[in-house]
Amino acid sequence: MYPKSIQKLIDIFSKFPGVGPKTAARFIFYLKKVPEKEVENLLELIKHLKKDIKTCSFCFNIFEGPGAKEDLCPICQNPTRDRTLLCVVEKEQDLVSIEKTDKYKGLYFILGGTIPILKKEKKKIKEKELKQRILHPEKFGLFAAEFKEIILALNPTAEGKATMLYLKRFLKPLDKKITSLGLGLPKGGELEYADEETLASAFERRE
Ligand SMILES: [Zn+2]
Repeated sequence: MYPKSIQKLIDIFSKFPGVGPKTAARFIFYLKKVPEKEVENLLELIKHLKKDIKTCSFCFNIFEGPGAKEDLCPICQNPTRDRTLLCVVEKEQDLVSIEKTDKYKGLYFILGGTIPILKKEKKKIKEKELKQRILHPEKFGLFAAEFKEIILALNPTAEGKATMLYLKRFLKPLDKKITSLGLGLPKGGELEYADEETLASAFERRE
């Protein structure tokens, strides 16, 4: 059907989240049409993504650090952030949404996913890493931190709720205050798509 190299590209793009083979084929034919310069630019940016974008040793947030030696992201490095608050989010985009509200001044932890409840996949969440970071932040480069409250800011979806219940049980022996976001978030909706005002008030009404 398609020439071999095009089929290979379609296979690669099909692995992207939310992209099936048909959309992948549309991407490839689009790329074939755009000027060469634009494709080169895209390739450079992808290379940069792999080389110069680092993952924070404490919170797993990504940050740009070309040549930089530090392992902590700017949020974890910032001495004005409240190091008694730790907000657990599913993914990077959720962190960005919460930062945009300008209401939350504590630190974050990116869990990397939620517990699947419908599919029979294995869970891929970083609960052990979370526990270690609450207990010994200094081992991950974060000093002068003593967490008093862990905020579970996960999506109000079935998976998000199951994950919150699981984490509450998992973290219970640590004897920390564990809260989750208050009402107001659209049921079954995603944090990523909540407007700033709704998200800010969900933070204020956490319990
Ligand atoms: Zn960080």
